[in-house]
Amino acid sequence: MTEPFDEIIVYAIPMRSRFRGIDVRHGMLLRRGDRWSEWSPFPEYGDREAATWLCAALLTDDPVIVRERVPVNVTIPVVSPSRAAELVSAAGCTTAKVKVAGAGSSQADDLARLDAVRNALGASGRIRIDANGAWTPIRAAEAITSMARIGLEYVEQPCASVDELAELREMLAHKGVGVPVAADESVRRAADPHLVVARNAADLLVIKNQPLGGWRRCLELADFGLPMVVSSALETSIGLYDSLRLAAALPVLDHACGINTARLFTDDVVTSSLIARDGHLEIGPRPVVDHQRAATLKADRTTTRWWRDRLERCLDLARQFNSAEQEES
Ligand SMILES: [Mg+2]
Repeated sequence: MTEPFDEIIVYAIPMRSRFRGIDVRHGMLLRRGDRWSEWSPFPEYGDREAATWLCAALLTDDPVIVRERVPVNVTIPVVSPSRAAELVSAAGCTTAKVKVAGAGSSQADDLARLDAVRNALGASGRIRIDANGAWTPIRAAEAITSMARIGLEYVEQPCASVDELAELREMLAHKGVGVPVAADESVRRAADPHLVVARNAADLLVIKNQPLGGWRRCLELADFGLPMVVSSALETSIGLYDSLRLAAALPVLDHACGINTARLFTDDVVTSSLIARDGHLEIGPRPVVDHQRAATLKADRTTTRWWRDRLERCLDLARQFNSAEQEES
């Protein structure tokens, strides 16, 4: 067994539909004593980035929570207006995140989907859009201006780079369009939030527990004073629990979080999955792996070998990161 872990499971869980180009999600479940954590950096990520994700799994304590329930959003992919309305009604959430600017979706399609979501949610519901960096600043300013009539909570990652986000914010301010900009893909590594803040590139930060190296580093970002929204990194309920716990520990939480993602997977590794009720996830005890369920979700030998090798390489790096940080503080 790879020290310091007492048990390691490499999982392979099919997705209900292709997401982020992924049909089957792979990752590791790691047990130390009775504490399970998840390590699931995407396979194309290099060791340094994967080691940052591992720092999250190496934490041995949990943040103090300040709320028992966390509001979550429903995510509406690029689907027809009628399908979008169905998804909103079925979810029971009062916040919807609508994907826009997808391949093969025109601005008219996006507007029709947004209208359908607004109708299904009602006037008091919150709608945010996510362009996943697809727009140039000029294109974004034009699209956001035309979509603003629907009433937007914020726009997530309208442009790809931090400089473009900053440019767009200036353009929106100049046009008098009061739609806040959230940085998502621009906040992936530990140093990223500092750059986003230094360049004045966002009104909100979307933070993810594993990619940023765990809850302690995430909570430090509250010092910037920007509102934060916790999102999942496409995790099983083991990883989602840490994301939920982080959201429950944020000093201020004014926005629904993107952590109701357990249903994107066809199956889960715990007995009762973290699935929202009435638009909220509730903090319960730390979940443990249900070995019966996990037994059917184990990765094949080649994949398992690959992940074990990756863990060996990344453990040293993660420990270096952690000790460098301790010396700094
Ligand atoms: Mg996003």
